[in-house]
Amino acid sequence: MKKLAVVIFLRERAVLAVPRPYNGLACVYRPDVAPTETVRIVPVISIDSWLLPHDDYWQNYATLRPSSKVPVGAATFIPGDRAIYMPGGWSRPERQRGLKMLHEGLHAYDRLIRKRHMPKPRWRRERNAEYLVVRVLRAIGGQAFTDYLDTLISEVASQYASSGERFCFRLPFSRQDDPPLDHLLWPALSPAFRRDRALEVERCAVAHFYEVRYGAKALAHYGAYVRTNHWEPDDDVGLTSQSVAA
Ligand SMILES: [Zn+2]
Repeated sequence: MKKLAVVIFLRERAVLAVPRPYNGLACVYRPDVAPTETVRIVPVISIDSWLLPHDDYWQNYATLRPSSKVPVGAATFIPGDRAIYMPGGWSRPERQRGLKMLHEGLHAYDRLIRKRHMPKPRWRRERNAEYLVVRVLRAIGGQAFTDYLDTLISEVASQYASSGERFCFRLPFSRQDDPPLDHLLWPALSPAFRRDRALEVERCAVAHFYEVRYGAKALAHYGAYVRTNHWEPDDDVGLTSQSVAA
């Protein structure tokens, strides 16, 4: 149901916006949504590198500089802007972009709809967003994907047993080109596609492993896994750097 809530939320509230210097946004508002109720979708494209000051935070999204400290390839929701920024030149498969929008869309939903009722602390919201994507991937892949994840259980169990509290599952290189992944997720047309795909497989495999081993307590275990491994920069990182610049 959460997936549906996020999709409805985005459909009802989303407006397109273009970046302006230092966190300015020019929005294409809709007549049926008050500006204060919108969520802004901001695709930062290559021409923005000419329009933004050279030290603007979002330059990293416009130019996808290899030296960037921003985790390029990632969409980001910034609560203060009510905006989901998406990097330009982001030649990722459509399915992956959709999943990323769903992930960030849940962050936006938590902040803008659930507000003070949103899950706290922050790792719970991250856990929910990752688990949402895991559920969608498993729904798309159906029994074939579950069967595939079954083949990874012994590998997950072995890494889990040997790594203690710092458990972070890595899909073995020899499994990263498994043929079923091409249609269950997306074809690995480049090293970046392959790495992103492996990351999704790793999350699904860990969630599946916890469900098989811990049943109803799986979500709690996955939450601990997120706290250990998938910590994202602060929500307001863009704003913070711009406040300093201003
Ligand atoms: Zn997130």
